[in-house]
Amino acid sequence: MKVLEEMKATPLQNAKDYVDRLIKYVEERNPNELEFQQAVKEVLHSLVPVLVKNPTYIKQAILDRIVEPERFISFRVPWVDDNGNVKVNRGYRVQFNSAIGPYKGGLRFHPSVNTSIVKFLGFEQIFKNSLTGQPIGGAKGGSDFDPKGKSDMEIMRFCQSFMTELSKHIGPDTDVPAGDIGVGAREIGYMFGQYKKLKGAYEAGILTGKGIGYGGSLGRKEATGYGLVYFVEEMLKDKDLSFSASTVVVSGSGNVSIYAMEKAMQLGAKVVACSDSSGYIYDPNGINLDTIKQLKEVENKRIYEYVKVHPDSTFKVGCAGIWSVPCDIALPCATQNELDKEAAVMLVENEVKAVGEGANMPSTQEAIDVFIENNVLFAPAKAANAGGVAVSALEMAQNSARLAWTEAEVDEKLQIIMKDIYSKSVKASSEYGVEGNIVVGANIAGFVRVADAMIEQGVI
Ligand code: NAP
Repeated sequence: MKVLEEMKATPLQNAKDYVDRLIKYVEERNPNELEFQQAVKEVLHSLVPVLVKNPTYIKQAILDRIVEPERFISFRVPWVDDNGNVKVNRGYRVQFNSAIGPYKGGLRFHPSVNTSIVKFLGFEQIFKNSLTGQPIGGAKGGSDFDPKGKSDMEIMRFCQSFMTELSKHIGPDTDVPAGDIGVGAREIGYMFGQYKKLKGAYEAGILTGKGIGYGGSLGRKEATGYGLVYFVEEMLKDKDLSFSASTVVVSGSGNVSIYAMEKAMQLGAKVVACSDSSGYIYDPNGINLDTIKQLKEVENKRIYEYVKVHPDSTFKVGCAGIWSVPCDIALPCATQNELDKEAAVMLVENEVKAVGEGANMPSTQEAIDVFIENNVLFAPAKAANAGGVAVSALEMAQNSARLAWTEAEVDEKLQIIMKDIYSKSVKASSEYGVEGNIVVGANIAGFVRVADAMIEQGVI
């Protein structure tokens, strides 16, 4: 009996030791890249059951290879402001993994962007893109440029300079960037124009998130937020719950937040709070989305302007306080590590039933542990916010075929993809002995497809 137990224990211990060694190696090799280390640790720990079942992944050093980007590009972005001053920012592109398709992932313009942020996002993107079932590899990029307070012409000059260098490294079958924080349709338009001018050719599939008039896909703008709500609705359905008549809190008020709020409202939820980096608003009557769209999409104003139009609402400085607002469903849709252990405990005390991550890695590991320990339904970012990149892949498909689908066609495909990601994640969780844990299930389902493709393609 004892021998049998030892025989069983050995592969598990081997896998755990291997993962611990690799995490230590990643920490030593990427010092000061805390967000990247955090993302790697979360994924690697969850893959232990896969390594036990398939030791060939250890033999083939798949994890050793997957934590090292295929390519990391860093470059100077010089530009001239409206007063004639020369400014210099730093641009990045990490091409992390191309086992299942051309590199694909957004560009972020925010002062916090650095090597660690770009690498954590690129690493997560590998598994997210795999989960969509589409042929897209993992990448991410951006710059520490701050678009806030810049004129339209400054944004244009910056985007042109950024693309002048980036264009050397991307292509419709090589690497296809999109938007992210600080990069919306305007920035994509300026970058597309510059790429076209440099190449002297109209390659529609070079960027996604384009304007509808020149190769963009209907439904792309809404895709991440809508996809998040479709995913969470599936998860709720399994427990006989729904968005209908639920109270919802959504952090942020950017692209992902706005369309998560819109779809949640369409499904009958009451959204009572949202935020930006200055603070959050609470509206007991339910957030008026037209006002938010006007302030954020049209006028580019701060969220506190909302209370001037809706006198029953209140504004509080500091975005973390939003998690003290009682709700049934919380959707963090702003940025990484915005929801910590303290916030998770507050949500649990207020009897939150489900949390769905719209942003990338918005919850700290400690916060996730609190949700899991307290049986809160938890939809991890990699799975729940994959709708945006999924529709980006649909945009690439439309560009290749030189046709355009209707909004209804795109939305139908998005719903199918989100349901499929949910069922894949649940299935993987039960197959690998962690039934119902979608965090682990999603990591495993995303990983296995990439790992098998890497093995089939040899050591390259
Ligand atoms: P966005 O349109 O630029 O909006 C970002 C929102 O988050 C804004 O309200 C912003 O407030 C807030 N925010 C940004 N940094 C913050 C910080 N450090 N602290 C507090 N609030 C902050 O960006 P987005 O496209 O919605 O992206 C939001 C998140 O979703 C990101 O994690 C992104 O990686 C993820 N995501 C986006 C997509 C997509 O298709 N866009 C797809 C998958 C995942 P301010 O305006 O005050 O800065």
